[in-house]
Amino acid sequence: SDPILKVDNLKTVFQNDRGTVTAVQDVSFQINAGESVAIVGESGCGKSVTALSIMDLIDTGGRVDSGKIKYCGKNLVTMNHEQKRQLRGREIAMIFQEPLSSLNPVLTVGRQITEPLIVHQNLNKDQAKEMALKMLERVKIPRPEKVFKQYPHSLSGGMRQRVMIAIALICNPRLLVCDEPTTALDVTIEAQILKLLKQLGEEFGTSIMMITHDLGVVAELADKVIVMYAGQVVEESDVFSLFKNPMHPYTKGLLNSTPTIDSGELASIEGTVPTPDKMPDGCRFHPRCPEAMEICNEASPEMVENQGHKVRCFQHHEVCKKVAI
Ligand code: SF4
Ligand code: MG
Repeated sequence: SDPILKVDNLKTVFQNDRGTVTAVQDVSFQINAGESVAIVGESGCGKSVTALSIMDLIDTGGRVDSGKIKYCGKNLVTMNHEQKRQLRGREIAMIFQEPLSSLNPVLTVGRQITEPLIVHQNLNKDQAKEMALKMLERVKIPRPEKVFKQYPHSLSGGMRQRVMIAIALICNPRLLVCDEPTTALDVTIEAQILKLLKQLGEEFGTSIMMITHDLGVVAELADKVIVMYAGQVVEESDVFSLFKNPMHPYTKGLLNSTPTIDSGELASIEGTVPTPDKMPDGCRFHPRCPEAMEICNEASPEMVENQGHKVRCFQHHEVCKKVAI
């Protein structure tokens, strides 16, 4: 059967006063039914732009220039606005980093959680309320009846995030896109939310696309990992081989800068992510790469693959085979 999501050679561009810049290029990956996929990288690497391209929520000035985004076999890029809006409400849901900015401050939690049921599933108010209360319970909100009547600002950050998850899951989506959903939360709440997402994913069979800069989150939640750097995918692998055998120097750098229980000192990757209008020639990571070779500032490495583990780095070009795109 078709994968839930298949992205082929996505290229997303932005128009600014100096012309067109490419924010995301050659991005290809797929998410199968029930799979959790994490997209990782520092901020500015194109993770959010990739997600927003999929959701058709890119800011004005940005657009998908080429490539395919297939949802259950249907190409979203060629769908009209209304068809995409329908899918977004019913089958693809999104959870953002800061729930306060995406929840409506003047509507009660109850209004916001029942609305999709009334609009998309033609339930009446009572039926919708009954389902909403059940969902609030499922995301472990204590006293759902009370929270149902409350406004977002009167809830804690963790509770708001749970409300967001409840709203996202109420129509039983097949794909849940989460953009740094735990970043604004403290560690304990973060762990609870991740556990909850994982449980719900397993219970509902929802595929999850998680965008994060935090490899701890990845280890906790993901089956598959996609590492992005400077608008490109540089490594893709199942979570075990990524942690056990990271192949791209950027991934190694990210792993070295991730706190673990026994590591005292925290390394960080020197330098900064290039902006889309100042992409370096050759391998985009070469100015920061501790393993750079002579070829690296002249030519750009293609994606190669060895037993399902893909990497974009010249060091692996001989042992791996080229990925057919
Ligand atoms: Fe480093 Fe060269 Fe590999 Fe790029 S291609 S990651 S510069 S070794
Ligand atoms: Mg982001």
